Amino acid sequence: MLKPVVLPKNAFKLFFQSLKGLGTVYAPVKVSEKSYSFKEVHSPEEIAFEALRTILPPKKFFYPQEETLIRYKNGDFEEVQPEKKFQVIFGVHPCDLASLGILDTIFSSEPADSHYLKRREQSLLVGLSCMPDKHCFCNAMNADTAGSAYDLFLTDTGEEYFIEIRSAKGVELIKSLAEKVSDANPENHEAYKEFWKKREAAFSHGLETENLRSLLDLEWENQIWDEMGKRCLSCGNCTPVCPTCYCFDLVDIAGLNAKEGERVRQWDSCQFVGFAQVNGDFNFRATPADRLKFWYRHKLHGFDDAYGFKTCVGCGRCTESCPAGIDDIVQVVKILQGKKENKHYEP
Ligand code: SF4
Ligand code: SF4
Repeated sequence: MLKPVVLPKNAFKLFFQSLKGLGTVYAPVKVSEKSYSFKEVHSPEEIAFEALRTILPPKKFFYPQEETLIRYKNGDFEEVQPEKKFQVIFGVHPCDLASLGILDTIFSSEPADSHYLKRREQSLLVGLSCMPDKHCFCNAMNADTAGSAYDLFLTDTGEEYFIEIRSAKGVELIKSLAEKVSDANPENHEAYKEFWKKREAAFSHGLETENLRSLLDLEWENQIWDEMGKRCLSCGNCTPVCPTCYCFDLVDIAGLNAKEGERVRQWDSCQFVGFAQVNGDFNFRATPADRLKFWYRHKLHGFDDAYGFKTCVGCGRCTESCPAGIDDIVQVVKILQGKKENKHYEP
C-alpha cells in the first residue's frame, strides 16, 4: 500500500471533478425515506454520504441483472462484448468491498468470466467508511475493514478524509490533486485510528464463527429449518440483495422469424421453487426449508473447501429485505449453536 494522504472536506468538489474526468460516476443516492441506491451522480450534492446499505450492492455494475451474451442469425452467431465505458463507483463500504474481493476470486477462477473481469478493469472503486447499525455484523465475518478490492478508501475523520491508496489508478487520481492533498501526519493517523476504534465499539450484532462448518452439518435436521420454511414466501428477495450471490439463468429469446435471436444471462435465485427442478418433474430442493438450508450452507461454509472463505460479509441486506422477517443469519446461527432460545421462528 502507498503512503496515505489527507483531503480537506472543503476540497471534495475538486476530488469529485477528478472522478468525473475518468468516466461515469455512481454513488449512493436517497431514493425513499429509508432506502438508498447506487445511481449516476453529476455533483457531490446528489451523494447520500449517510447511506449505510444500498438496496442492491455494487455487484450490479460488474455483473448486471440482465445481459446479452450471444446474438445469432441464420445459423451464425457473434459474442456480445460489454460496453467500453469507464465507471467510478464512489462510497463503497468495507463489507461491499469484501464481497467484490470474493466475486473477483470466483469470477476469475477458470473458466474465467470475461464480461465481469472486463467491467472490473474499466472501473475505479472508491471506498468510504461507515458506522454500523443493528443489522451489521461484518466484523464477525472479517469484512469490517477495507480489503483489497478498492483503488482509494476514504475514512471520514471530521474535517478531512484520510485516504488510503491501493492501486496505480488510485495513485494517478491522487497525483492529479497534488495541490489539494497532503501526506498524512501523525495527528491524521491518530484521528484515523480513533475513528476505527469508535466504529469497532459501535457493533451491537454479531456471532461466533468457529466451527460453523460442522455446526451446519450437525444441525441439518434441526427443526428451525421447517419452522422458517413454513414462513418463507420463496420470494427470492434475499439473493439479489446479497453482494455475493451470483446464480444466473441462461434464456434463449428467439425472434418471431425463427432465424435470429439472443442468449441472455439473467440473475436467478436459489429460493425460487423452479431453481433446482429438472426434467421428469423432479426437484432437488422442493420445499422452502430445503432451499433455505442450502442457502445458509452456501453462505456459511459452502466455499470453505474451494476457496477458503465464507460468502457472507455481514452486510445485513437479507435481514432487512426479508418480507417474512425470518432471514436473520445471526439469530439462526445462535439458535443452531444453542445460544438462543428458538422463539422467533415458531410458526
Ligand atoms: S447473506 Fe445476508 S448478511 Fe450475508 S452478505 Fe448476503 S445479504 Fe449480506
Ligand atoms: S427473503 Fe425471506 S421470505 Fe423471501 S425467500 Fe428469502 S427467506 Fe424466504
